[in-house]
Amino acid sequence: MHTQAKFSGMRVLVVDSKLIDLFPHYEIEREMFEKEGIELDVQNITSQEEYIRLARDADALMLIGLKTPREVIEKLEKCKVIVRYGVGYDVVDVQACTDMGIALCNVPDAGSYEVGSHAFALAMDCLRKVTFYDRQIRKGVWHAGSGYTLKRMYDYTFGYIGFGNIGRVAAGLARPLGVKILVYDPYVSDEVLEEAGAVRATFEEVLSGSDVINMHLPLNPNTYHMISVEQFKLMKKGAIIINTSRGGLIDQEALMDAIDEGIVAAAGLDVNEHEPLTDLNDRLLTYDTVILTPHTATESNVYAPTLQEKAAKTALQVLRGELPVNTINRKELIERNKNV
Ligand code: NAD
Repeated sequence: MHTQAKFSGMRVLVVDSKLIDLFPHYEIEREMFEKEGIELDVQNITSQEEYIRLARDADALMLIGLKTPREVIEKLEKCKVIVRYGVGYDVVDVQACTDMGIALCNVPDAGSYEVGSHAFALAMDCLRKVTFYDRQIRKGVWHAGSGYTLKRMYDYTFGYIGFGNIGRVAAGLARPLGVKILVYDPYVSDEVLEEAGAVRATFEEVLSGSDVINMHLPLNPNTYHMISVEQFKLMKKGAIIINTSRGGLIDQEALMDAIDEGIVAAAGLDVNEHEPLTDLNDRLLTYDTVILTPHTATESNVYAPTLQEKAAKTALQVLRGELPVNTINRKELIERNKNV
C-alpha cells in the first residue's frame, strides 16, 4: 500500500516497435508495474516528433533499438530512468542522460550464455566450413578441399577483444578443444584471465597471433571501426573474424577487401553495420565464406522472459530512488547529485 501511493500516477513507456517482434507479450512487466500502481504504456513509435510527444511526461522509458538522441532526451520532463533491454546501449546519448539527471541502465546478464554460445557456434561453423560446404553442394559442387585450408582444432589460437560476460562464456566453450586463448581487455584482472586459461595480450598481439578473432566489447566512439584496413594488415593470412557485438566495430568494406585479398578466410557475423540486412544486392551476400545471422545471438526459450523481468526490476529500482549497479552513468550521476 505504501509503495502504491508512492508510485501512483506514474507511467512507464515502452517505446520500441522492435520489441513487439522480440516479445510475445508484456504481461511480465505489466504485472510487476501494476502491482505498484504504475501504468505500462506500449507504443510503436516511428518518428522523433511522436517520440517526444509520447515520452515527454513518462516517468521511465524502456527500449531496445530506438535511437534516443539528445534532442529527445532534453525534452523529457519527468523521466528518471531509461532502460535498454539488453547489454549494448549505443542507441542512447549517455552524456545527455547524465546532463538531464536520468539514469541509463542496461540489462547486462540476461543473454550472455546464449550470445557466448552463438559466437562459439559461428567459430565452429567457420573452422569446419559447415555452411560453406552446404552452399557449395547447393550449387552442384561436391568437392572436398575447396575453399580455405583447415587445421586440427587444437592447433588454433582464439583471440578475444573484450572479455566480459559474453567473451568469457565463448572462451569457456572453446577451451576444452585445447586451443590457445589470447585476450585483449585492459579492464579485466589477471585472476579472471588465469581462471579462463587465457594469456593477456596487446590489441596488436591478438590481431597478429590469432586464427580466430572474436569481438566481445561495446560499440562507442572509441571502438567504432577499431578493425579497419590497418588492423587487417596485421592479421595472419587466413584469419577468421567472429562478431556478435556490434557491426560498427568492424569497417565492413575493409573486411570484404581483406577477404578478397586472402587475409581473412571467413567471417561469422550476427551483427551488421547496416541492420536489417535486407538488400539482396549487398556485397556481403556474395561471399560463401561469410556466415550471417540476423542479430539473433540471444535467442533461446528463456531469454525474453528473463530479460523482461530484469528490465522491469531495474526500472522499479530507479523509480524507488535506488541507482542499481547496472546504471551506465552511475558514477557521473552520483557526482552530479553531490554538486546540485
Ligand atoms: P561486458 O560489459 O560484460 O563486457 C565487455 C568487455 O569489453 C568488458 O570486459 C570491457 O572491459 C571490455 N572493453 C571495453 N572497451 C574495450 C576496449 N576499447 N578494448 C578492449 N576491451 C574493451 O559486455 P558483454 O555482455 O560481454 O557484451 C559485449 C557486447 O556484446 C555488448 O557491448 C553488446 O554490444 C554486444 N551484445 C550483442 C548481442 C546480440 O544480440 N548480438 C547481445 C548482447 C550483447
